[in-house]
Amino acid sequence: MKYISTRGQAPALGFEDAMLSGLARDGGLYVPAQWPHLGADEIAAFAGLRYEEVAFRVMKPFIGDTYEDDEFRDIIARAYQGFRHEARCPIVQIGENDFLLELHHGPTLAFKDVAMQLIGQMFEASLKRRGERVTIVGATSGDTGSAAIEAFRGLDAVDVFIMFPNGRVSEVQRRQMTTPADANVHALSVDGDFDDCQALLKDMFNDFAFRDEVHLAGVNSINWARVLAQVVYYFTSAVALGAPYRKVSFTVPTGNFGDIFAGFVARRMGLPIDRLIIATNQNNILHRTLQTGAYTKQGVIPSISPSMDIQVSSNFERALFDIYDREGPAVAALMDDLKSGAFTLSQGAQERLRLEFDSGDCSEDETLAAIATVHRMSGQIVCPHTAVGVKVAADKRISGQTPMITLATAHAAKFPDAVEQAIGLRPPLPPHMADIFARPERFSSVPRDLAKIEALIRAERRT
Ligand SMILES: *Cc1c(COP(=O)(O)O)cnc(C)c1O
Repeated sequence: MKYISTRGQAPALGFEDAMLSGLARDGGLYVPAQWPHLGADEIAAFAGLRYEEVAFRVMKPFIGDTYEDDEFRDIIARAYQGFRHEARCPIVQIGENDFLLELHHGPTLAFKDVAMQLIGQMFEASLKRRGERVTIVGATSGDTGSAAIEAFRGLDAVDVFIMFPNGRVSEVQRRQMTTPADANVHALSVDGDFDDCQALLKDMFNDFAFRDEVHLAGVNSINWARVLAQVVYYFTSAVALGAPYRKVSFTVPTGNFGDIFAGFVARRMGLPIDRLIIATNQNNILHRTLQTGAYTKQGVIPSISPSMDIQVSSNFERALFDIYDREGPAVAALMDDLKSGAFTLSQGAQERLRLEFDSGDCSEDETLAAIATVHRMSGQIVCPHTAVGVKVAADKRISGQTPMITLATAHAAKFPDAVEQAIGLRPPLPPHMADIFARPERFSSVPRDLAKIEALIRAERRT
């Protein structure tokens, strides 16, 4: 399988190079040159298999012969052995035809672990074979950073630098990034918001001299391998509820569009998904775009679901690429317009987008109310991001038999203040994290200045 850039100007790469480089050199994102297809019989055969085996079968057509089959099975096994649930990504029922897909049983209690643990193992296998090392730099709105640190800490071939927005991540999120003692882990507190961190990261990738000098690699949700890992749980959950013989719908708490784009990929591969619903918090740029056709940045308003507090939704570009019939120049033109704050979809593109996705948004009060409602209805305690999804799923409910699966993207204990405000209970951290408030923190404070951050990376990375 070859990977091509959404902007059409970068060379096509194989899976391993697309994974190790992250962003394409024309500023675009890598996508597979074609969508592999799984027949209904192949999907039906997933029933009753272990999560790891479904992961192998879903991802195999995308990775080709990058790894021998046995090696790839070992990589997958190592990736998920640290999950605290046998089913890895179990579903629980919270209403008559409503389900949660629990993606938070990994080491950092958020769905980012599902992909990051896997790519940690894939990077290690690939770099060892090539005798190379890389510097991973990431930007995080909270959960990506700790997931990357957990996935790469202690690896010989990798230094990992994570930029997080100063004061805009929860205390648990910050401590997950600042307390690991491994020498290859570097947490950077940036004076800015998440979009600033993400813009700095993009600029760093476009500084080709620096990129080559430090062997820069990206593991943000723009990395294709991350999206790929997330496709798997759409299959396992849908099959558990009757696919391919019965359609299911998904509601996805959305920020950078990586998770819901994985659902789009599953549908392209042949999984019969009825509706794919984008759920946003008050930072509802994607919901407004579907409604109006205009993607207009308005500035980030901090919320109680901070991992969704963004205005530039990077992976949306991958959806636009398909919506615009895979014409790189059309996507490049939209992204050029965005530099001045907005772009407008053609009417045809807006219509095609609305055939693929539905959307809704959720205010702060509605988020708290949804946490309380789920608790009352089912006894489950959900995090504020999941609550945004539950609220939008309820708004979009149409009577009928199609199950609705809302992605539970983080563990409630990661956001105890919001949960306590909603239901008066403080969810406890699981035992492996119970001492996180006692561990010493270690991080560097940096200004929103590319040259200064690059200098720090040069100085601190191991060579
Ligand atoms: C990252 C994250 C999201 C948003 O996911 P995207 O793939 O960026 O759309 C939602 N909820 C939680 C808890 C997250 O960590």
